Amino acid sequence: MHRIGQGWDRHRLAAGRPCVLGGVDFRDCPVGPVGHSDGDALCHAVTDAVLGAAGLGDIGAMFPDTDPEWAGADSLELLRRAWARVAGAGWRLGNLDVTVIAEQPLLAPHRGEIAGNLAGVLGTAPRRIGIKGTRGEGLGPEGRGECVTAWAVVLLEREERRT
Ligand code: MG
Repeated sequence: MHRIGQGWDRHRLAAGRPCVLGGVDFRDCPVGPVGHSDGDALCHAVTDAVLGAAGLGDIGAMFPDTDPEWAGADSLELLRRAWARVAGAGWRLGNLDVTVIAEQPLLAPHRGEIAGNLAGVLGTAPRRIGIKGTRGEGLGPEGRGECVTAWAVVLLEREERRT
């Protein structure tokens, strides 16, 4: 059995904020995502995609942004917790494809590291994970450098349960 899921997230970018995307710390980036957690929009989109595919709700229900426990949270850890629920329901990752739209940071040099981080959390091989970065070309809030937006599509696989 296969199930597909998609996730989307957007965070405002502000000067002087730490910039963590896909669990990679872009130390030289002058701006970073604003959020209740670390604002890692890439991890948030992936979390929503896997929860959605498994029919297990969404990131906001699992980690409410009103809960002080998740203030400044490491979003790779949030994904790890969400994936534990998904894997517990018998799902494994078929493949994951992610697109990040932002003027900065430049993702390309770190695609392998991001795929490795996600693969480690999702119990799969990096070759099953695609990471793509693109820019807004001056258009929209991404193009003006106001935000980072991430899209994720995931395919989950599970053995048929025979009753
Ligand atoms: Mg978010």
